[in-house]
Amino acid sequence: MDDAVITVRGLRKRYAAVEAVAGIDLEVSRGEIFAFLGPNGAGKTTTVEILEGFRRRSDGEVRVLGVDPAHAGSAWRNRVGTVLQESAAEPGLTVRECMQLYAGYYDAPRDIGETIALVGLQGTEETLGDQLSGGQRRRLDVALGLIGDPELIFLDEPTTGFDPSARRAAWSVIEGLRELGKTVFLTTHYMDEAENLADRIAVIAGGRIVAEGTPQTLGGRERMATRISFTLPDGIGSDDLPLRASTQNGRVAIESERPLADLKELADWALARGLELPDLDVRQPSLEDVYLQLTGGPE
Ligand code: ATP
Repeated sequence: MDDAVITVRGLRKRYAAVEAVAGIDLEVSRGEIFAFLGPNGAGKTTTVEILEGFRRRSDGEVRVLGVDPAHAGSAWRNRVGTVLQESAAEPGLTVRECMQLYAGYYDAPRDIGETIALVGLQGTEETLGDQLSGGQRRRLDVALGLIGDPELIFLDEPTTGFDPSARRAAWSVIEGLRELGKTVFLTTHYMDEAENLADRIAVIAGGRIVAEGTPQTLGGRERMATRISFTLPDGIGSDDLPLRASTQNGRVAIESERPLADLKELADWALARGLELPDLDVRQPSLEDVYLQLTGGPE
């Protein structure tokens, strides 16, 4: 595939007795935001570090921007940006100085002021990196990852510890990368983040890819039953309901393959009896429901 930025075939990584990555295939295309999800210990960091050229694989084929990261040189490194979980800010340097230092590592860095603005750090240029708030420091990390104007950016849990508005702001920064035509490989534990940002998602569990798809189709989500739920009206038993339902603590749940028809039947039944269906809720499984199913339930 011409526009493949990352191609992985049969990737394996063993650490003594542990097979952390047990033969995975991945393909990420140019301009995509690709989210890599999985529970703790699933093999995400190991995979990402192999793709970044920081870790050797035991087996398999890996191409990142057409090059094997295990043998890549500085020209390749110039094309790849990494934003790690730990902060990269240098102690004692201001935001601008930090950016200048990092810009010096690259052949053709981005404009410093423009990059600071892209991550929403305008006005903090003269602030010391270690005096930034946690959220601002993370933005500086993203800015440092972008300063070399990479084609491909690895973002490792970019919004961990952010408050809700800082997360939204970070999402628009990541959206901005899409508009710049960058390819983003995003590792996250937040389903709403993957749902909002990702074009495609792969889920890894126990070193294997257990599902791959768009946020809408992952794990067959679009074909899963819709859940209709409501509080059992006073004086009604679950046996009185017109549809097969399960009841727990007075809350009725109906798994429906044809939600519109089932809702009509339910509404007709309730209206004929002058009943309300309190707290009526109709919903498709969330990405989190699907993810928990794929990875074996809550940890
Ligand atoms: P998390 O979400 O907790 O960061 P992860 O999906 O990134 O987890 P990895 O860090 O890739 O998971 O770890 C996968 C498995 O490999 C785990 O069982 C881990 O204990 C093991 N592992 C990781 N690094 C090493 C190492 N250097 N030596 C031995 N075992 C390791």
